[in-house]
Amino acid sequence: MEESFPGYELVIGLEVHAQWQTESKLFCGDATAFGQPPNTEVSPITLGHPGTLPKMNSRAIEHAIRMGLVCHSEISMFNYFARKNYFYPDLPKGYQISQHTTPICKNGFVSIRTGSGEKKIALTRIHMEEDAGKSLHDQSDDYTCLDYNRAGVPLIEIVTEPEMNSADEASAFLTEVRKLVRWIGVCDGNMEEGSLRCDANISVRKKGDPKLGTKVEVKNLNSIRNVRKAIEFESLRLVQILESEGKVLQETRSFNADNDTTFSIRTKEDADDYRYFPEPDLSPFSFNEAFIDSLRASLPALPESLFEKYSTEYGLSAYDAGVLSDDKTLADYYEKICAGTQHYKAIANWLLGPVKSWLNDSGKEWSEITVTADSWRALVEMVESGKLSFSLAAQKILPHLLSGEKSDPLSVAKELNLLQDADASEIQNWVNQVLISMPEKVTEFRKGKKGLLGLFMGEVKKISRGKADPKKTNEILLEKLNQS
Ligand code: ADP
Ligand code: MG
Repeated sequence: MEESFPGYELVIGLEVHAQWQTESKLFCGDATAFGQPPNTEVSPITLGHPGTLPKMNSRAIEHAIRMGLVCHSEISMFNYFARKNYFYPDLPKGYQISQHTTPICKNGFVSIRTGSGEKKIALTRIHMEEDAGKSLHDQSDDYTCLDYNRAGVPLIEIVTEPEMNSADEASAFLTEVRKLVRWIGVCDGNMEEGSLRCDANISVRKKGDPKLGTKVEVKNLNSIRNVRKAIEFESLRLVQILESEGKVLQETRSFNADNDTTFSIRTKEDADDYRYFPEPDLSPFSFNEAFIDSLRASLPALPESLFEKYSTEYGLSAYDAGVLSDDKTLADYYEKICAGTQHYKAIANWLLGPVKSWLNDSGKEWSEITVTADSWRALVEMVESGKLSFSLAAQKILPHLLSGEKSDPLSVAKELNLLQDADASEIQNWVNQVLISMPEKVTEFRKGKKGLLGLFMGEVKKISRGKADPKKTNEILLEKLNQS
């Protein structure tokens, strides 16, 4: 945007729908499992048969509150559901139970990090609603088929303020939301299966114009890539319209993933009138502070606070702290190892260095690593205290631990004779042998060619077959070389 249209500013607000990982639906006991045969999770309540009554799923409400707490939102203590009336084949009751003027969470923010730094994206609201069923247009040439398994699955909708200004920021926001819902275990964040979907509201305005431009809304984006592509396409299109003196039409659009373009589905002229009113079949409900506090107490340590701890208390680089606090399995693992040692940085280096490359090579996930915290601490302790070289530990011991065939690094080190357990007098002997064997080099060193130290170190390593601790070797070498 910046480069291509210096005079314009892009403005984006997102509406993110997340399906809750609950066993049962929002208002009845039907299962919510994805991928079941069509219409097998549909009781008369899901199908909205006359005489059926909804019953609230308290897990879903707890999840919504947890999400609000994670996003620093205010939790509404008094709540009720509302009916949103519209006719659509995938909506069996002819209305959707949602929240209208009283969302369960108000305000709050989600912090994102992009190339241009950190930014807090303000939220307008988070509200609960039930999902609709699914229309399938590709099952028959003559008919649209309907699968109501999804109808009634709990959803929350997270609505942001129009505060993002680039496709980068929008994808960072969505990535962060996906991380957060997974982190607290309320949604699997699977965009391909539709558990997380996003509508992008996009407008452009002349730089400095205090008024927002007319927006278009691109519906149902089902991957972060598509959100980015839709924004890139729309921002170009909108600027072109403004440049050619045209007026942007407020409309709802859809994304075509085959060619990364969008097309209009309807304009705001036929603005929807949902005739909202309070849902008469569900009583209003309220919470007390103790309940909210108990949910707050049940939250795990969040990525933001872990990032803070790793970069300040543990002294890790922002990059390392970011990677370690980005994945819950990895963060939990790291925390568990760090609980019994202070070699925070060394452990981070092990995990993000050799272990990460092993994962990449073997196509495995962090959750598949079985090396215990005790084994890690024993290994790191040996290396940090100079009993074992990092490279031997990484090449000769780590593979046995990762493969699960050995668990005690000390016994592997002994078995393979890898310990740098030579005492000072042995090292002195090796150093002497080396210096005597290369008198010209010693003279050159003493004349100022200090780079030769590496050569002497390497020779000692060779003849000691790795048994000499490099730190001690270094000290002894310098001592000898500096005596004339
Ligand atoms: P609607 O009534 O069309 O749903 P809302 O005002 O409720 O519109 O906003 C829906 C979403 O659109 C929010 O995420 C909001 O931030 C975003 N939005 C509103 N106006 C604009 C605009 N001019 N440009 C970009 N996004 C906008
Ligand atoms: Mg909308």
